[in-house]
Amino acid sequence: MGRKIALGVAAWLLVGCAGAASDQGGAGAAMSLGTVAPQSVPASMQGVEARQLFGKIPEGSAQPAEPFGGYARGCIAGAVQLAETGPTWQAMRLSRNRNWGHPDTIDFVERLSRFAATQPGWEGLYVGDISQPRGGPMLSGHRSHQNGMDVDIWMLPPKRLDLTRSERESISSISLRRAGGAYTNDNWSRQHFEILRAAAKDPRMERIFIFPGAKVAMCDMETGDRSWLRKIRPWWGHHYHFHVRLNCPAGARHCEAQDPIPPGDGCAEAREWVRNILHPPPPDPDAPPPIPRRELRMTDLPGQCVSVLQSP
Ligand SMILES: [Zn+2]
Repeated sequence: MGRKIALGVAAWLLVGCAGAASDQGGAGAAMSLGTVAPQSVPASMQGVEARQLFGKIPEGSAQPAEPFGGYARGCIAGAVQLAETGPTWQAMRLSRNRNWGHPDTIDFVERLSRFAATQPGWEGLYVGDISQPRGGPMLSGHRSHQNGMDVDIWMLPPKRLDLTRSERESISSISLRRAGGAYTNDNWSRQHFEILRAAAKDPRMERIFIFPGAKVAMCDMETGDRSWLRKIRPWWGHHYHFHVRLNCPAGARHCEAQDPIPPGDGCAEAREWVRNILHPPPPDPDAPPPIPRRELRMTDLPGQCVSVLQSP
């Protein structure tokens, strides 16, 4: 804790969670909690991309832990740092300084890693990005991961937990997909299924993003209670890591929930996604043009994010 690390603008690597539509974070609904009035943003923060401001700060704020706003439009006060190495985990890509999150998130990672360590061939978990020390938009990679409640977990089974700093920069995760994500490949294992199921069953779980072929594999493997399967959501990418999204903590009034998951186990929807990968439908001539992306500024974020940035 408290170790100052310059924020490396690490190139977005294969394990990143990027992509315009990745990690659907409820950004569209984010205005409901209100954003900052332009006149209440300090002059030094006006006209600047918020990612430039959040990307510079090396430590969490000296405030009680609280997420503000949504997963893709927010920030976090009082974030804590996941220890770089624990008994059953290692944080990867330390130069990014993205191993910060809400205490619930850190606790979740530690618990899940203890379960992972019970799986044959797994010493625990390799943990990818959580959030920046104060959350917020990032200089590279994700759209979400802004309020300390999202975590990327590597698909690579950890064989050792004594990786050096430089090994943690250079080692890559493994992909589990085949045929553009329609199917799993030979790296997929029962252990991945067990770890994902344990994660999905955690009462704090909001949803997990993974490529469609893995969701269908899990639908086929589960022979008992299927209720947890709805938390596993097919999405683009997410074959080098899976992305865990936790619910807003109890009492966090300014943390914005995502639209709820539809009822059911979601298996039919995942199978349809797979069919569309294998046999892409013709493009819809009436589809609206994509909305151009604009970098967020402080006036796009919840008002509390100004004080999160200003706090010691
Ligand atoms: Zn992610």
